[in-house]
Amino acid sequence: MKIPNHGLFPDDAANRKLLSLVHPDNWQNPSPSPCYNLVVLGAGSAGLISAIATASLGGRVALVERHLMGGDCLHTGCVPSKSLIRSARVAADLKRAGDFGLSPQSGVRKEDFSRIMERLRNIRADIGENDAAARYRDLGVDVFLGEGMFTGPDTLDVAGQTLRFKKAVIATGASAVPPPIPGLKETGFLDNETLFFLTERPEDLLVIGGGPIGCEMAQAFARLGSRVSLVQDTRLLPQESAEVSRLMTEVLEEEGIQLYTDASILKAEELPDGRKSLVLNHGGQEIRLDAETLLVAAGRKPRVEGLGLEKAGVRYNTKQGILVDDFLRTSNKRIYGAGDCCMAWKFTHAADASAQIAVQNALFMGRKRVSRLLMPWCTYTDPEVAHVGMGEREAETLGIEVETFTFPMEENDRAKTEGEKKGFVSVMVKRGSDRILGATMVSSHAGESIGIFTTAMAAGMGLGALASVIHPYPTQAEAIRRAAGLYRKSRLTPRIAALLRGWLDMARKY
Ligand SMILES: Cc1cc2nc3c(=O)[nH]c(=O)nc-3n(C[C@H](O)[C@H](O)[C@H](O)COP(=O)(O)OP(=O)(O)OC[C@H]3O[C@@H](n4cnc5c(N)ncnc54)[C@H](O)[C@@H]3O)c2cc1C
Repeated sequence: MKIPNHGLFPDDAANRKLLSLVHPDNWQNPSPSPCYNLVVLGAGSAGLISAIATASLGGRVALVERHLMGGDCLHTGCVPSKSLIRSARVAADLKRAGDFGLSPQSGVRKEDFSRIMERLRNIRADIGENDAAARYRDLGVDVFLGEGMFTGPDTLDVAGQTLRFKKAVIATGASAVPPPIPGLKETGFLDNETLFFLTERPEDLLVIGGGPIGCEMAQAFARLGSRVSLVQDTRLLPQESAEVSRLMTEVLEEEGIQLYTDASILKAEELPDGRKSLVLNHGGQEIRLDAETLLVAAGRKPRVEGLGLEKAGVRYNTKQGILVDDFLRTSNKRIYGAGDCCMAWKFTHAADASAQIAVQNALFMGRKRVSRLLMPWCTYTDPEVAHVGMGEREAETLGIEVETFTFPMEENDRAKTEGEKKGFVSVMVKRGSDRILGATMVSSHAGESIGIFTTAMAAGMGLGALASVIHPYPTQAEAIRRAAGLYRKSRLTPRIAALLRGWLDMARKY
């Protein structure tokens, strides 16, 4: 079978190694089993977990991938973006060397950028070993490389072979969708699928989109020395509270990024010298921006087209993707969905959790529900923004009265020693109880620390109990105890305070 060249760019040792792992040139698809317990369409995070879970339980499983095993997370999402962000953090620390008592360091040079991208590609090739086709084959998964398409309610064709299944999981993910801006397509732009192909630093970068990916990449490129402007049609990080948006606006502006929030883009065009230009309406004024490179980091849509879903009797639409119930079952009871193609939460850990639910429900008549999942998330800007549970808006919509306790990071000793000035821990409880409904953390490693709230919420631990948990000093986790301490303090009624004072007065006398 001839496998098309899945050209990762550039053609260097790291990308060749990666390709040899996740889409080997000489790959031979196996002869299909007469019938599989599970056929999995798509080998991104959700598909890989579905396949490995089934094989490890002794099931016959086929995994079908048309492009690169590992999907978005490994190739065009989490792994490359977080590798780039790490280099950008080092650059930001070097720039602030004077704040830490060191001699001022030179900024990032243009030629450093190609080594930074080389590091990224090496990390990706290294992590790629986990997702290698041969590794999955050796673990008992029948790996088929090729475009998969349902041909009936219990059959799927790939590379000229038909796979029969008792159950199937669709895990085809999501892809970037450019916003409907006149002239955008003709202007030419990068998105997450092409951004990490860069080998030279853009002198200036125009980012469309102020969600997690837009903010992360705008900050990273600014730290690596590009002049960055960002255009967003609402406030930054609109899925977070207004306080988080304000803080992120301050952070990005202080780092020299030109922000145009609540702006509408009227058109895009390529200038005669090849520069990309956007015309926007910002605060009632028409503004023209131009840059060497345009990055579109707005909008993702589930991959549902060309999968033969009609033949399989699976309902879908282009916005929500594969339509599933709380058990992740589609309209064809044999077929389940997992990951970005059907979930509102588009994260790797959500893809993983949903795959586990789909496999249990599909193979073992399980009754696991998506609505029971407690899903934390994190935006890897600096400071990071992490959240779990409800936000105030959601509580209001549900008519739940809440109390919120907030502790500023600038009062945390570890943040002081780290030179961190911005951030907070905020936790929301149901009014009159210590039941934690949600929490937000903004700090340098909020993505790690939010796990404390997630664990407490999953275990049904109240905020009162969380106030008694001891953390090493000095850590940012202590800020969680302090926020919980504010809750405890709020429970100190004037009567209890008077009783305690009386007791202490008495103790001095006798
Ligand atoms: C820039 C960026 C940064 C991100 N950062 C983070 C982060 O830090 N943390 C986080 O949790 N999430 C992050 N995400 C989101 C995360 O990458 C996705 O949520 C996750 O990869 C979804 O996994 P999935 O398995 O559902 O889909 P995918 O990873 O997209 O996998 C789907 C697979 O299906 C294959 N496929 C599709 N159609 C067919 C077909 N017909 N036949 C065969 N194969 C097919 C595709 O080729 C693909 O390999 C980021 C995303 C982006 C874009």
